[in-house]
Order: sequence, then structure tokens, then C-alpha cells
Amino acid sequence: MSYSPKTGAACTCRRGVERDNCPRCEGSGWQIDFAAIRAKHMKWRAYFPVTYNMSPIDYVVSDKPMESKEEEALWHYNKSREHDGLKPLAELPYGVEFRPLYHNCKP
Ligand SMILES: [Zn+2]
Repeated sequence: MSYSPKTGAACTCRRGVERDNCPRCEGSGWQIDFAAIRAKHMKWRAYFPVTYNMSPIDYVVSDKPMESKEEEALWHYNKSREHDGLKPLAELPYGVEFRPLYHNCKP
């Protein structure tokens, strides 16, 4: 079973059958922090504006422990630049916009 973050609050379900079938705590007795799960699975679409060398382009990115969405977006952008024979950038160009993408993922 995968790890589910807990809110630290005890669940209101009763022990036994009710708890085993409880969607709020998944049988653990502690309420699961679904907001934290959603944040962890949250995806973003990064919109890059038109620049002198590049057409507008967008990528789907997410925040990870080892790599922020900004770093991931820059990595994708530099891959696209490389494809066009352009030098990689050290930071995101001015005007990049991140918009949240909501999707249904099973917590
Ligand atoms: Zn419960």
C-alpha cells in the first residue's frame, strides 16, 4: 500500500467494518490529507511567450522533490531550443506563465 499523508486528526468512523470501508481514512483511523495528495500530484502547463528565436510553446510540468516545475519547464524549453540549434538558457525567459492543470487522479 502506498503512503498517504495524514492530517493528524483522528477519523470519526467507528472501528470495525465501518472503518475498513471508510474513504476518509482508508481504514487507518487517521484522516488522510487529500489536499496534500492533490498538491503533490498537481500538474501545471507552462506557457512560453513568443521570442525573437522561438514560437510560443507550452509544456506540462509538475513540482517534484528534486526538480521544481520551473526547472522542468526550462529543461523542456532548452531541449526545444537545442532542436532548433539554439544555445540553452540559464533561466526562464521573461513572461513565462504557469497555469494549474487539474486532473482526476486516484489518491
Ligand atoms: Zn475513517
